[in-house]
Amino acid sequence: MQEYICVHCGANNPSVYKQFSDEIIKLTKCDNCNNLVGEYVETEYSIIIIDMLLLRKEALRHVLLIQI
Ligand SMILES: [Zn+2]
Repeated sequence: MQEYICVHCGANNPSVYKQFSDEIIKLTKCDNCNNLVGEYVETEYSIIIIDMLLLRKEALRHVLLIQI
């Protein structure tokens, strides 16, 4: 089973989001730090690039580690 790394604390989590129906998708909270595992999944690329330029660890972890 593939595991996803939390962009905030680096802990492994089983999923980034859960889909309950066609229209209802809920982002998963990290078991370790209780923040959203992959909050940049919903963010536009331009915002992610700006956050990378600002050296935000969360944006760098998202680009390097989460493959969605
Ligand atoms: Zn976490």
